[in-house]
Amino acid sequence: MICVSLGRRRHSALKQAHRDLSRLNPELVELRVDWIMSRLNVARLLKKRPTPVVITCRREQDKGRWSGTEEQRQAVLREAIIGGAEYVDIEEDIARSIPRYGDTKRLVSYHNFEDTPTDLSDIYQRMTECDPDIIKIVTTASRPADNVRVLELIKSATVPTVAFCMGELGMVSRILCGRMGSPLTYAAGSRAGEMAPGQLLWDDMRDFYRYDSISSDTKVFGVIGDPISHSLSPLLHNSAFREVDFDGVYLPLKIPADSVQETLQAYDKLDISGYSVTIPHKHAALEFADLPSVQANLIGASNTLFRTDGKWHATNTDYDAIVKTVEAGLTTFPEGSREVKGKQVLILGAGGVARAAVCAMQKNGAAVTITNRTADRARALNDEFGCSVIDWEQRSEEMCDILINCTSVGMHPNVSESPFDLPWLNESMLVFDTVYTPENTQLLEHAKTRGCATASGLEMFMRQAARQFELFSGQQPPLEFMMETLRQSLSTAPE
Ligand code: NAP
Repeated sequence: MICVSLGRRRHSALKQAHRDLSRLNPELVELRVDWIMSRLNVARLLKKRPTPVVITCRREQDKGRWSGTEEQRQAVLREAIIGGAEYVDIEEDIARSIPRYGDTKRLVSYHNFEDTPTDLSDIYQRMTECDPDIIKIVTTASRPADNVRVLELIKSATVPTVAFCMGELGMVSRILCGRMGSPLTYAAGSRAGEMAPGQLLWDDMRDFYRYDSISSDTKVFGVIGDPISHSLSPLLHNSAFREVDFDGVYLPLKIPADSVQETLQAYDKLDISGYSVTIPHKHAALEFADLPSVQANLIGASNTLFRTDGKWHATNTDYDAIVKTVEAGLTTFPEGSREVKGKQVLILGAGGVARAAVCAMQKNGAAVTITNRTADRARALNDEFGCSVIDWEQRSEEMCDILINCTSVGMHPNVSESPFDLPWLNESMLVFDTVYTPENTQLLEHAKTRGCATASGLEMFMRQAARQFELFSGQQPPLEFMMETLRQSLSTAPE
């Protein structure tokens, strides 16, 4: 069950917001009465309430807005109990001075806005002695592994227990607490009404992560990286899971660079079945795996971890995505020359994507030439893979069948830039730009003008995710749906 938190400065506004929200049938609404700025009248808020409520009156030390005395605050809690509120949130240190009465359930809470203390079990034990109907323990995740310690409390609980972490690192526990047995989680009723750090919007918790349908059977996946908030993968995978009716949820999992191994080991207790891996963890993911694939080893980086029979496999789906995207681009070539094998490929760039492209093209029998603005990086890649290298300034003179841009030139916001000028292109080439923001880069526009075959970075992005989807779910990926989802999200992304 999701408890939707609401706070407003005026009684009338809070009552109105509660009525508006009730049209969407929330099961439980938390009224943050400490937000009310005028003289508080709890009975007025309880009268004709459209849904069951939790009455919460948070003091300043717990990041609440209550400005009266502690005595007055406790009087408010008693008034809420006498008024018959379904639940009243009572902090554990005052719980003994607020007696049980009537049918009102006691939600005994502990909040820590600094960290996740080491003595969680002692705190929990103390709380069980406060006559709770529900225990709520909310701490701040300083490290991702703190989520696991907090969620473990639910598993061993003797009383129905809500437990999760706040902060950006705590999101995973807010979403997975129900799967561990928590009777509820919290979400904000509106963007303006976030009550605690890292709190998700009700819409997202309900429709995007489908919190209420997450059960112990639901398979959990996520993308690990830092930063992670910009990632399109949660949208893409969650939408695709829903499209094919797969019982899975996919989470953005921020993991700082220094704690990958520790976190992945700790997250084993959350029974996570697979990860997409992004910067800066692609090398660490490879090291973590029990069974790295040939491709991941060749590239020296993994963008996918998945588990079978208790063993972690690492692979690199960029490799397959690059090959498939090029092959799709070659379908317009004359019959008999639609294979990568034997093609002259010029790769612009020497970063992570270039590495995957060099590897994928070379292993499929192409003759690869690399060029990069910083010559040393191109030479280093060349030394490793044994292809050819040319100076960046000479790139216009190189004859090729396939041109692959693996630089970031042309990426938003520098959309009028291109790493390869229009006159250098000729119609017999396939031009593949790995940049996908925007989909139609300046390079691809020029290539179309010159009559070249083209392949886009968005197609590559979709294909690497589609392969992950297949590994994660064991089902055929809905390719067109995934492409359309990406296009729509890029077209509505803020500038
Ligand atoms: P990276 O490791 O940081 O490499 C960036 C490359 O771009 C380097 O070769 C760099 O050259 C070159 N570069 C940057 N600015 C340049 C400029 N003004 N002129 C010439 N070269 C320049 O990044 P990456 O991870 O390989 O990603 C590269 C691009 O691939 C990204 O920008 C992104 O658009 C795209 N990408 C696509 C996908 C997909 O699925 N389609 C996935 C990931 C990334 P120096 O060595 O000289 O700095």
